[in-house]
This record gives sequence, C-alpha cells and structure tokens, in this order.
Amino acid sequence: MLQTCVSAVFRFLQHCPLPAWTKLSVSMCFRFLINQILPYWVAYRTGSWTWRHPDDGKTASLALDPNNSAFVPDIDLLSHRLREGFRAYCYTKWQNTNRNDADMCREVPYLEKSCQAARKLSSDNARAFAIMTGGCVSQACLQNRTGLPIACPCGQISTMEHEIWECPYVPDILNRPRTPSNPIQMRLGWPVGSTDDEAILAWMIACRKRSLALRYKPPR
Ligand SMILES: [Zn+2]
Repeated sequence: MLQTCVSAVFRFLQHCPLPAWTKLSVSMCFRFLINQILPYWVAYRTGSWTWRHPDDGKTASLALDPNNSAFVPDIDLLSHRLREGFRAYCYTKWQNTNRNDADMCREVPYLEKSCQAARKLSSDNARAFAIMTGGCVSQACLQNRTGLPIACPCGQISTMEHEIWECPYVPDILNRPRTPSNPIQMRLGWPVGSTDDEAILAWMIACRKRSLALRYKPPR
C-alpha cells in the first residue's frame, strides 16, 4: 500500500510542475513526499496520514494508518481512489484556467461516472478525443488568433456554439440533436448518462469535420 502511494507520488512528480519547496529535495524522505504531495493531489489532508477528495459528489477518504476508519485494505480500491483524486485534481486545475471551455464549465463538478464514460467513448476515436479535450477552434477564435476572417456558411464569424448548436445553414439540420443543458456536454460532448449522449457527440464530431473542411479547402 505504501508502495502504491509512493509510486503515485512519483507519477505526480513526472507530470506536474513542482512547487518551490520541493527544490529542497535530495534528502527528502518518503514520509515528507507523501505528506506534502498527496494533499495537492487528493485535495485535503484531514489528519495524520489521512486525506480526502471529492468523488462523485460524495467524500472519499483514504488513510495509511491501519487504525483509522478510512484505512483502505484493498490495494485496488486504494489505487482507484488515488487515480480518481488525480483526475479530480486535473479537472479542477483545468476549471481554473482562463480557457473559454473552462469558463463555461466553472460550475460543473467533477463526476467520476461522466469522466469514465468520456474516456470510454474517446479511447479509440481521435475525433471524439479532440472534441472532449477541447481541441476545437471556432472560426471566431481562429480570426482572433490569425486575423483570417473565415465566415460560417450563414455569413457569421462563428463561435463554436453557433457552429454546432445554432447555425441554420448546417446540412442535415433536421438531425441536429437537442442542445444539451449541461455545459460540459454542450461544449465538450462529455456524456451525462442521457440516451442521446452518443448522438450528441456524433453531431459535434460531424460539425467539427465540416468546419475544418471549410477552413482547410484543398488547393484547386
Ligand atoms: Zn452559421
């Protein structure tokens, strides 16, 4: 179990910039590492050798002290809670950026089920992965970055919401799904447990494809 936590800490160190205090570090011991870094990862230290993080709307705890009620004897469950803690940490970090998609989803809490479903739908689909990770650049955003005015077929310099959910000139408009009420689904196509989750994602993928084709026309 200790090995799992130490390994988790080292994975964290590989992927995340270190806070200034870690510059101390050659002689740092495992206890120091775990006590200092797990709070970054699982959000709150609640006592000696115990931490908790938001997990699917409830509070999940983990403890390395066998006498603590939050002690997790199951190594798989402990690993799962550590992974979820890291995902929740990354999600919150993204939410605190100044990206447009993060701004729209500021009030959407991290949900394990939604994240799990998003990973499943995008695991072998690069186009779905691009949508779900915010890899779309609207015509309006492109114009801001490059100065190139590429108008939507309706004549607007369009935002992503317009291109996907509002434009009256998209082909197959009768097949356009309802506009999702959840911002993370509307903007990033993350499933929310609705029967039309896959149809919404498929529509978003088709719209992005059309938008890219319009932007990058083959030379004549
Ligand atoms: Zn349009």
